[in-house]
Amino acid sequence: METKIIDGKEAAAKLRDEIAVQVKTLPCAPGLAVILVGDDPASQVYVRNKIKACEKTGITSFEHRMSENATQQEIRHVIKNLNTNTDIHGILLQLPLPAHLNGDELIQEIDPAKDVDGLTIANIGKLVAGLPGMTPCTPQGSLLLIKSVQEDLTGLHAVIIGRSLLFGKPMAQLLLAENCTVTQCHSKTRDLPGICSQADILIAAVGRAQMVKGDWIKPGAIVIDVGINRVPPPSPPPSGGEHKGGLLGDVDFDSTQGIARAITPVPGGVGPMTIACLLKNTVKAAQSCWEEPER
Ligand code: NAP
Repeated sequence: METKIIDGKEAAAKLRDEIAVQVKTLPCAPGLAVILVGDDPASQVYVRNKIKACEKTGITSFEHRMSENATQQEIRHVIKNLNTNTDIHGILLQLPLPAHLNGDELIQEIDPAKDVDGLTIANIGKLVAGLPGMTPCTPQGSLLLIKSVQEDLTGLHAVIIGRSLLFGKPMAQLLLAENCTVTQCHSKTRDLPGICSQADILIAAVGRAQMVKGDWIKPGAIVIDVGINRVPPPSPPPSGGEHKGGLLGDVDFDSTQGIARAITPVPGGVGPMTIACLLKNTVKAAQSCWEEPER
C-alpha cells in the first residue's frame, strides 16, 4: 500500500483563502491579541508565524510582549484590558509560560467569547456538552486533516496517545462527536503498541521523538503526528536509517511507509493547520460579537 502524505501546508493555505474571503464580508477587520511572555525561541517562532498568517487573511494582530519576569498580576491586568477592548475579538496567551507563572489560572481570566484557543473551562465544558463554542485549534485542525482522507468516520476505532487539556482530551471529544470509538492512552497505559495496532485512526501527542514505530500501526490506518520535538543531531553522525536531528514528530515516519494509509509529516502536517484554525476561531469570535453586540 502506498502511504499518502497528508499535506498540512496545502490544507492550511486552502483554509486561509476561505477565511480571507469571509473576512472581507465583515464590517471591519477582526482583531487578534497575542500575549508572549519571556524569550523562549520556539514560542517566538510560533508567534511570528501566527502574526504572518493574520496578515495573509486580513486579520489585525496586536502583539503584547512581556518580560520573562512579568508577574501573574501584570499578565492578569493585560488580559482584563483586552477582554474589554472592542477592537480585540480573540486573545491568545502563548504557552508555555515561564515556570513562576500559573498558566491554567491565567487562561481562565480570558473572556470565553474571546478564547480563540478554546481552553477556558467554559469552552471545554461546551465541547463536552456538544454545545457551540470555541474548539481548541490543534484538535480542530487534526480532525480536518483526518476528514481530508475519509469524510465519514462512523464506527472507526480512534486511539489517541496523550490526555492533555490542550490536545488529547478535546481531540477525544471531537472524535466521539464523529461517532468514533475512542481509546485514550497515556504514560500509565499497559501494552501501548498492542492498543495502537487496533487503531483505524492513530493520533500521537506525547512529545517523545519517534516513539511510535511502524510495527505498532494497523495496515491501512490514518496516522496523525501531533508531536513537535527539537532533537540535536546524533554524535557520531548517522550511518543509515537513524534520524539526523532537527524537528521530529512522535511517529517514526519512515517505518510507517507502506503500512499506514495516510500520515501527517512533521513539520508540515498538524502545525500549519493549528494556525489556520486559530484564524478561523478569531473570525468566528468577531462574527458572533457583531451578531450579538450586547454581549
Ligand atoms: P503534554 O501536556 O506533555 O501531554 C503529553 C501526554 O503524553 C500526557 O498525557 C502523557 O501522559 C503522555 N505520555 C507521556 N509519555 C508517554 C508514554 N511513554 N506513553 C504514553 N503516553 C505518554 O503535551 P501536549 O501539550 O499534549 O503536547 C504533546 C505534543 O504535541 C508535544 O510534542 C507538543 O509540542 C505537540 N503539540 C503540537 C502542536 C501543533 O500545533 N503541532 C500543538 C500542541 C502540541 P500522562 O498524562 O500520564 O502524563
